[in-house]
Amino acid sequence: MRAGLLGVGWDDHSSHARGPAGAPAHIRAALHDPAGNRYAPDLTDVLSKGALHDHGDVTLPGGDEDVERITAAAAAVLESGDALLALGGDHAVTYPLMRAVAARHPGVRIVHIDAHPDLYDDFEGDPLSHASPFARIMEQGLATRLIQIGIRADTPHLRAQAERFGVWSYVSDDIESALVAIASLGDGPVYLSIDLDGLDPAFAPGVNHHEPGGLTVREVLRVIDALPGTVVGADIVELSPGRDLNGVTAKVAATLAKSLIARMAKSYG
Ligand code: MN
Ligand code: MN
Repeated sequence: MRAGLLGVGWDDHSSHARGPAGAPAHIRAALHDPAGNRYAPDLTDVLSKGALHDHGDVTLPGGDEDVERITAAAAAVLESGDALLALGGDHAVTYPLMRAVAARHPGVRIVHIDAHPDLYDDFEGDPLSHASPFARIMEQGLATRLIQIGIRADTPHLRAQAERFGVWSYVSDDIESALVAIASLGDGPVYLSIDLDGLDPAFAPGVNHHEPGGLTVREVLRVIDALPGTVVGADIVELSPGRDLNGVTAKVAATLAKSLIARMAKSYG
């Protein structure tokens, strides 16, 4: 499958600080940076027409209808036959994206990299909060399995939610167990959701919620390499460009996107 890039500049439901709405342009620029390399390690030309098609950004004027607009835009990417590669926004984008993914690929499983479980029933009264997408996804049956990796900001409520939804949860120093769990998913559709704060702030400083003790870039690349089955979609969220240092976090996002584009190019079905 070809990767269909969709920019999702949406941070209306961030709890602490805004910023991720501006991320798509920064990740695109890093992806196309002529000082970088357009080939993935397996020598896939990730910028070639056969590997990547840019569907542009979702138009988001604000208000309640934005949720529907994001779902509709993701559905259009999937209907074109491309795998969905959504870039930008805060983690609230994953719920409207998964509505489209689950409709097209029933039985999809999610691998989720994050410092936070994002399973709040609601956060500060907002059920669409960027701290709540996986509660909405699991209670609506939009995924048949959720594997969370890099978790290090848990609470009693979040732990109870994880048990309620049967989440497989791995702290950031348990990457080997997480890789075994991913492999056990076997054939079928898989979606990868990457919150950049799952990485250590040393690798990805350009996020609004620093949680030291996180994953390395190479560990996240290992997760991508370990994904089984058909990778039907992915998102890379929570880049806050105003917090970045020399664009290094945007570059990390682009590097992860390149690996995903190459992985999607090898997915069929
Ligand atoms: Mn998150
Ligand atoms: Mn997070």
